[in-house]
Parts: sequence; structure tokens; C-alpha cells
Amino acid sequence: MKSPRLYLDHAATSPLRPEARQAMERCWTCTPGNAASAHVEGRAARAVLERARAQVAALVGARPEEVYFTSGATEATNLALRGAAQARRDARRHLVSTRIEHAAGLRVAESLACAGWKVTLLESDATGRIDPRSLSQDPMRNAALVSVIAAHNEIGTVQPLGDLAAAAHAGGAALHLDAVQAASSMDLGEVPWDLLSLSGHKLGGPQGVGALVVRGSLPLAPVLVGGTQESGLRPGTVPVALAAGFGAAAEAAFARRESEAHRLSALRDRLAGAIRERFPRLVPLGASWTRPGSALPHVLAFGVDDARGDELVGALDEAGVAASSAAACTGSARSHVLDALGVPEHVGMLRLSLGWSTTAVEIDAAAGRVAEALSRLLAMTPFERRRRPFATRAAEAGVALTPLHWEAAEAVFTFHMQKGVLPGARHLARALGPGVELESLFPKGLATLAAWLGIPAPDRGCRPHAV
Ligand code: PLP
Repeated sequence: MKSPRLYLDHAATSPLRPEARQAMERCWTCTPGNAASAHVEGRAARAVLERARAQVAALVGARPEEVYFTSGATEATNLALRGAAQARRDARRHLVSTRIEHAAGLRVAESLACAGWKVTLLESDATGRIDPRSLSQDPMRNAALVSVIAAHNEIGTVQPLGDLAAAAHAGGAALHLDAVQAASSMDLGEVPWDLLSLSGHKLGGPQGVGALVVRGSLPLAPVLVGGTQESGLRPGTVPVALAAGFGAAAEAAFARRESEAHRLSALRDRLAGAIRERFPRLVPLGASWTRPGSALPHVLAFGVDDARGDELVGALDEAGVAASSAAACTGSARSHVLDALGVPEHVGMLRLSLGWSTTAVEIDAAAGRVAEALSRLLAMTPFERRRRPFATRAAEAGVALTPLHWEAAEAVFTFHMQKGVLPGARHLARALGPGVELESLFPKGLATLAAWLGIPAPDRGCRPHAV
């Protein structure tokens, strides 16, 4: 009998909790109204929405009126950073953030820099911890906002939030926390943050809903313009059923926050120990290995020498374990976080993340499968290792691979490894013979082939059938 798959990718998205599913089904079945409508059905929808708002607020120690529903944490962070920037009328046009933010924060920081804001990105130490002393006078000059990932989605490191908040406020700035991964296990109510981003699907709620929580009277301008929903800060009809699912998941996470944090950190450490025992060559990443008290209970990250992240994920996938090598939105590219931590280029990352549905039986099964898959991968030739990611990318593009595809792939890859991609292309042109063009095999010729193989694309204009 085939062994069941093991889902260890809760940090990418957590399976829907039964409480969230029931809340949504109830809403879709019994509450047809628009929460902004004045009739009975509208008022019923509004009651569901307000209950969800209170449930989300309770999770992070906020008041219900401080919660603004959005489509997810990416939108919440856009609203926090862009909204704060747009509302700013004085000379404090300076954002302080970090090099290890999730793409949602980093890309907004970049766009503010393009719009003329000063942006300072702080360095972390090698475990991903930001030293609050780095928020000293100089980096904080004229800072309006400090934005920090409270607990890291890729390496699990938790920041010293109280000290960071104190330093931000001492410098006259407000503090935004990306609390997407922190919310299910940390008590954030005691931290004096000003803005907080949350996402439903990381808590066992549905995808497509999140919230920005705004404390105090920080001026914020809406990023979207339209109706008066969410006090005009986030116009658009609120998806009541999704909010209800998010609220139910938040309530379940809150009720079991402490016990789950203990349970999951014990499982994480058991998994770490068992993998390390069988596969001692791993490179510990993040705080969970050295300071487990300063790490998320559900994230375990490590590096593997001489392997790429997508190869590691492919090998585990084949062994029946769902894991990742970076944030899901990074795709198969190497994470910027590894560079920020100073992890050498030849080390690939693997992240195993646990959650509400993870059991001890799964963890024990996973340790053996992970170690075996890694040993098997490292015994392969470089091209054999690319086979799985190559086939996955082709399947995603809807291409059914033929022996000719494989021949082309191997020719380009082998020659790339030896001499660079162009000689590979020349060899391939000879191997395919006259009349067979790469475009007929791969949608964009050599560029697609290189992308699927995870090797650098040739210079633009290189057409292998013409060389
Ligand atoms: N911030 C962190 C730390 C995350 O892990 C994620 C999800 O990958 C996001 C932000 C984006 O959340 P969403 O998928 O709700 O846009």
C-alpha cells in the first residue's frame, strides 16, 4: 500500500480547520446579504462580519474596531506602508525595514524608494535576528515607520519585539509588524506595535482574506479608492464568508495557542534531532537550532551543501513529503533571505513547517523519508537531480515530455556544466539536426529550456537553431 503523503508546508498555507469550514458553509448557506446593506439580510451578514472582526482582534490583543479586513497580508502590508506614506505630509519620508522581509514588505519598500522615500534596510545576524541597537540614531533619522517581520516565515527566527518597538518609538517612528507567521503561537497583545498584518490561510483559515490591524491614531490613507466599506480605508465588498472562516480559525488558534506552541516546538525539535541523526551533513538555519526559545515552534529550516532548493523540494515531493525551499511566492528561485544571512551560493535551503493538523506519527515518518531522500539526491549526478524539477516545470507549462525533449535537456545541461550554455546550444543544434527548431520543442526555445533546467538563460538574441 502506498504510504500517505506528509504535509509539512504549513508556513506556505495551512489546511483549512474544520471550525473555519463550518463557519464558511454556514455563512454561504444562511447569510445571503451584503454586509453594507440596510435590510435584514444585510444586517445578518454584518453581524457575522463583526463577530469575525472580534475573533481576529482577540487573537492579537486589539479592539474589534482596529481590525480592517483585506484580501490577505500582502494587501495589508501594502496598505500599512503605502497608506502611512501617502498620509504623511511632513519631512519624515523615511522607512526603516530589514533585508529579510517577506516579498510583500520588500517590494513595497522598493516602490517607496522609487517614489522618493529614503529606505534603510537593516542587516540581521546570521540567525536572522535584528539587533534593536541597529535602530539607533543614525538609521532612524527622520524615520516615519519601522516595518519588521515579527517571526520569520522561512527560517523561523522571532525578533526581540518589545525592544524593537521601544527603539522605533524612541526614534519617533511608528512600528508595523508582519505578524503572519507569529500570530498563531505568540502573544502579540503586549507588544506596543502600531500596525499589524495578518493572513487567514496561515492560521487554518481560508486563502484570500487577511487584515491590517491599526492601533492608535496613526494617519493612514486608503490605497484603493471606492466605497465606504471598512471605514473607507479598504473599499470593496468584504467577503463575509471568508472573514467568518478567518475569524473561526483565529478563535481556534487563540484558544489553543499555548498548548499548540508547546506541542509543535516539541515536534519540531524531535524532527530536527531525528533528521540530524540520520543526515548529519545539514547546515542549521535560523534560531530554532541554537535558541529554540527565540524561534517559531512550527518552522524548521536547514541548508544542504551542494544542492539547490528546488532539487531538495523535488526529492522530498517524490518521497511523499510536501516542503518548500523559500516563501511559496518566490517560486523556484533562491531566496533573498539566504543571501542576507550570508549563506554560500552552493547551499540550498529546505523548510519543513508544522501546524494544527501535524501529528507525532507524521513527524516520525517524515524524519526517515527526509533523510533518505536527501541521501538519495546527493548520490545522483547533477543532471539526474534536475530531472524532477525539469519535469515539474514542463508539466506546469502543459508540455508532455518526449525522448527528444530529454535529449535536448541533457545536451544543454551537460554542456552548460562543462562549458557554459552557448556551447551547449551549439551542440544541441547539431544533435537535433536540420529542420528541428527548439521553439517547436520548447515554447521560447533555449530560454525556456534553460529556465526549466534552472541554469542561466543565454544572452537575448541567441537562437540555437541558427548558430
Ligand atoms: N508575510 C509573511 C511572513 C508570509 O509568510 C506571507 C505568506 O506567504 C505573507 C506575508 C503574504 O500573505 P498573503 O498570502 O496573505 O498575501
